[in-house]
Amino acid sequence: MLGFDPEAAVVAYLATMSPEAQARAIAYTREGEWLLLFGWLATLIIAFVIVRTNVLVRIRERVEQGRDRPTLATYLVALAFTGMAFVLTLPWAAFAQWNRHRNYGLSNQTLLEWLAEQAIIGALAMIVLPIFLVLLYRLIWTFRRTWWLWAAPLVAAFMIIGMVISPLYVEPLFNTYKPAPPGPMRDAIVALAEKTGTPHDKIYIYDGSRQSNAYTANVSGLFGSARVALSDTMFKKGADLAEVMAVVGHEMGHYRRDHILWATAIYSIGAALGFLLAAWLFPLFRGLLFAGRVGGIEDPAGLPVLWAVAATLGLLATPINNSISRVMEADADRYSLTWAREPDGMAEALIKTAEYRAPSPARWEEIVFYSHPSVESRIRTAMRWKAANMPPAVAAPPPAAPAPAPAEPAPEPPVLIERELETPGYLPPEPPAKTTDPSQAAETTEPPAKE
Ligand SMILES: [Zn+2]
Repeated sequence: MLGFDPEAAVVAYLATMSPEAQARAIAYTREGEWLLLFGWLATLIIAFVIVRTNVLVRIRERVEQGRDRPTLATYLVALAFTGMAFVLTLPWAAFAQWNRHRNYGLSNQTLLEWLAEQAIIGALAMIVLPIFLVLLYRLIWTFRRTWWLWAAPLVAAFMIIGMVISPLYVEPLFNTYKPAPPGPMRDAIVALAEKTGTPHDKIYIYDGSRQSNAYTANVSGLFGSARVALSDTMFKKGADLAEVMAVVGHEMGHYRRDHILWATAIYSIGAALGFLLAAWLFPLFRGLLFAGRVGGIEDPAGLPVLWAVAATLGLLATPINNSISRVMEADADRYSLTWAREPDGMAEALIKTAEYRAPSPARWEEIVFYSHPSVESRIRTAMRWKAANMPPAVAAPPPAAPAPAPAEPAPEPPVLIERELETPGYLPPEPPAKTTDPSQAAETTEPPAKE
C-alpha cells in the first residue's frame, strides 16, 4: 500500500453506502433539524396552554392563603407544572421520536413499550425537578440581583449527582448491562485499557437494541461510577474487532480526557448566562403568553413562562452546544487513533452511524446542527492519520505512538480475532416488556439516534 491516498480511501468508504441509504440518511437528518424548530413551537404552545389553565396560580394562592409557605407552594407548583408539561408534551414526543424512529427503521419498539419508558422518565422528572426548582427559587428570593450566578453551582451539583448515580440507579431501569464476556474481544479491550490507564472492569455491553437499532456506544457516570457501554446493535450490525477497538478507544478518550467534567463546567456556566438572559426576557415572554396573573420571575407560577424562555435560549444556543460537543468528539477520535490505532475500524464503524447522521453535510449545517463532526470529516481524519502513522510495510510497529506501558501488550496482532462477535453470548434473553428511551437517558457524550 505504498502511495496510500487518504482522499481516495474516504471516497471509497463513503461509496459503501448505497445512494438509497444516503438519501434516507439525508432525509432523516434534515427532518431532525426541522423538528428542533417545531419542537420549540410545541413548547411555546404547551406553555401557553398551561398558563391559560391558571392551575399554577391557583395552587400557589391556595397554599399560601394567609400564610407564608413559599417553599411548600413552590414545591407543589413545580410538581404540578412538571406533571402537566410531561403529559402535554407526550403526543408531540410520540410523533417526533417514537413514530419517527419506527418510520426510519431505527426502532422496533411498540407504542406501549415506549410509553412505559416515558412513564419512568416522567416519574424521575417529578422526583428531581421540583427539588431543583425549590432551590432555584430560594436563590432568586435570596440573591435578587445575582441569583443567576449562584445558579451555576446549583446546576453543576445536580449534573454531577445525576451523572454519578445514573449508571447505578437510572440506566438499569431501561437496559441490562453486562460486562464484556471473556474472549478475544475482552482480552483486546483489557490490553487497551491497561495501556490507557482506564479501569477495564468498566466495559459493558447493553441491550440497546431494545430501544434503537442505531449503532452506538457511550460513556456515562462520573468518578467511581464511570463506564463505557457498547450497544448490542454494534454486534448485530457485524462489528469486528477493529471496529470495537476503535469505538472503545473513542469512548475511553471521553473518559480519560475528562470530557464529562469539562461539559459539566461549561454547561453550568452556560446555564448561569442563560438564567441572566432569562431574567431579562421574562417580562417579554410573560406578555407573549398572556400570563397576566403571573408575577415576576420570582413567582413559581411563572414556570411555564420560564420554560418558554429556556426553550428559546436553548434553540438559539444549538450551534454553540453542538460546536462544544464537536470539539470533544474530535478529541475522542484522536485519542482512539493514537491508542487503539484502528483507522479502518473507525471508518467502518462511522459508516454504520451514517444512517442517522447524514455523512456529508454542508459546512454550515455541520456547525449548526451536528453534535459530532460529520462522518466524512471523521473518516478523513482517520485516513490522514493512517497515511501519516501506519507505515506501508506492515511489519514494524510504528515508533511514534506514545505508550506509557513499556512493552507492547502481546495480544494485539491482527490475525487473532475472528470477525463474528456474535451477540448471543452476552445478551441473555431479556425480560420482554420493558423498554426505554435509548439515547437520551444515559448518554452524555454519544447521542445515538435520537438526538
Ligand atoms: Zn463520542
